[in-house]
Amino acid sequence: MKELMNKVAVVTGGNSGIGLAAAKAFVAEGAKVVIVGRRDDAVAATVETLGSDAMGLTGDVAELTTHDRLVSLINNRFGGIDIYFANAGTNIITPTEAVSVEEFDTQFATNTRGVFFGVQRVLPLIREGGSIILTSSIASEKVLEGHAVYAGTKAAIEAFARSWALELKDRRIRVNVLSPGPVDTPILAKLGVAPESRPEFEAQTAQAIPLGRLGRPDELASAALFLASDDSSFVTGVNIRVDGGMTLA
Ligand code: NAD
Repeated sequence: MKELMNKVAVVTGGNSGIGLAAAKAFVAEGAKVVIVGRRDDAVAATVETLGSDAMGLTGDVAELTTHDRLVSLINNRFGGIDIYFANAGTNIITPTEAVSVEEFDTQFATNTRGVFFGVQRVLPLIREGGSIILTSSIASEKVLEGHAVYAGTKAAIEAFARSWALELKDRRIRVNVLSPGPVDTPILAKLGVAPESRPEFEAQTAQAIPLGRLGRPDELASAALFLASDDSSFVTGVNIRVDGGMTLA
């Protein structure tokens, strides 16, 4: 029996990296999956790859209209959802002295406001026994240079998750956090590491990780699948770090 048979899932940022790996895992386990991404072409290409159990919605999670359009789509097509994976996120590494108001606002709008209002808007449609998963980062706990704003955005959503875990208990909706360490996804390429410096960057990063390497998107997808499925039926309000031990090192 597949783990997510007859379930409907939403994955924000589902056309790249961790979200894409999770969307693939959810479809493979029998779910219908709606991915939310910013670019029409990327969303369409991903839906084609995922197959007929996938649908796409193009929109920016920082815009409330995106969540309202998602609610209409769910109402029209499914009537409700079982899994909401708030995974889309952005990271601008800047020393505190150099952070612009625009950089600050962009990160909070995507990583924090986008998560809060995304959950708020879909909440009436989440079925009893559903699962909400928020992608945070070990940066919320482990001090990483230039990550103050990003860390703040992620610490806030961890607090949301703890509040929601209790607030939603009577509907048996579980709320958990997934905190990746460095994972080999396109977000790393956007951190300003030049392609020629990439091997050195990876080697240096790997040295800071007890398991000695970057994580893979499928390793995060496995944890997301655990939190999405009934395998985690007694798990709520926790933060699962998938970081090769980096937080402890
Ligand atoms: P990625 O760049 O491959 O994927 C991020 C996805 O989010 C993309 O599809 C992007 O288009 C989407 N996105 C970003 N801003 C958006 C917006 N405003 N509206 C809609 N979609 C938006 O990177 P990833 O590594 O898969 O990142 C997924 C999550 O994991 C993010 O929340 C990120 O902060 C978190 N994370 C990643 C790492 C890592 O090392 N890769 C580490 C810790 C946490």
